[in-house]
Amino acid sequence: MKKLEKNFSYCKPRYRYRGYKPLILISRCLNFQNCRYDGSLISCAPAEILKKWLAYRTVCPESDIGLPSPRPPLNLIITSRQSWLVSQPDAQNFFQQQLRTKSRRYLRENASIQGLILKEKSPSCGIASCKYYHPGNSSPAGWAAGLLPREVRKLLPRAALISAEDLKNPEKLFYFLVKIYIWRRWENLKRAYSPAALQEFQARHKLLFLGFNRQLVDEMGRIIATQNDYNQKQLIACYEKLLDNLLQQKLTRGRWINVLLHGFGHLSDSLDESEKIEFRRLIQEFKKGETSYLSLHNWLASQSRKRNITYLINQQFLAPYPPEINRKLSDINLVPDPF
Ligand code: SF4
Repeated sequence: MKKLEKNFSYCKPRYRYRGYKPLILISRCLNFQNCRYDGSLISCAPAEILKKWLAYRTVCPESDIGLPSPRPPLNLIITSRQSWLVSQPDAQNFFQQQLRTKSRRYLRENASIQGLILKEKSPSCGIASCKYYHPGNSSPAGWAAGLLPREVRKLLPRAALISAEDLKNPEKLFYFLVKIYIWRRWENLKRAYSPAALQEFQARHKLLFLGFNRQLVDEMGRIIATQNDYNQKQLIACYEKLLDNLLQQKLTRGRWINVLLHGFGHLSDSLDESEKIEFRRLIQEFKKGETSYLSLHNWLASQSRKRNITYLINQQFLAPYPPEINRKLSDINLVPDPF
């Protein structure tokens, strides 16, 4: 285990991924294989839809350490020394070491992932909702994360985690999609870094980033403006830290409205009075939660295209991830929405 930890490297993943879709690890029992303890498979409609827009690899720590399916279920146990054990209830077989090593191996080999979609409640894959027990006690003592998410938080803390259940939650799904797409674009920029490419990245994300936090956007701008004071490695590290910080922030309707008004400012000269009234009405409805942020985005996007306002057309704010994802998810009555 120590050896793996020492050899862990963000720079030398075994599988180098160079595409434009976010790279994701996904629990294999979600739509892929009957590898659960009871021999079943979970059908997850949002994951099935998202597959088209993701580069993914499937993982199943339990079957990849050689456990058969079906098998007796595993339990997460916490000892008095605060160490986590994983065992089958009626046997003295402990698997935590093998599961941890396997989890680290997945992460080491796929160190360029942007996120993971995991089956909840599993002692191996569960993000936070896994029951744990005290030794010899059959009643659960609480809920905790399984072994794979624990390793993700230690080794790849920027990777976005979402459970299959939370994929159905519009707010959590929105943040997940935005994060994995921003980090993917950032990884691609780092691969072909140039000062001009960084400036363009910042310019295209400006409105979206303002929705998260204006102060951090100003700091990012300052770093770019004084980039001659840094070498490339320092510059990337500083900017990346701010970006990470920015993506931890929560969006609010108030800040989003400010950004929408900012975008509207680039259009308003070319609009007639009735169009301006329509926009103000949509803003009022959004403020009261009577319309979704998407109606405003669609309105701004279509008006920008009609008038060829390049600044707005190029803003990731209007399409932080491919808009077709929303169209396809709406077939199952799911629309990612942070508000
Ligand atoms: S939850 Fe994880 S370990 Fe369990 S069957 Fe699914 S993929 Fe395998």
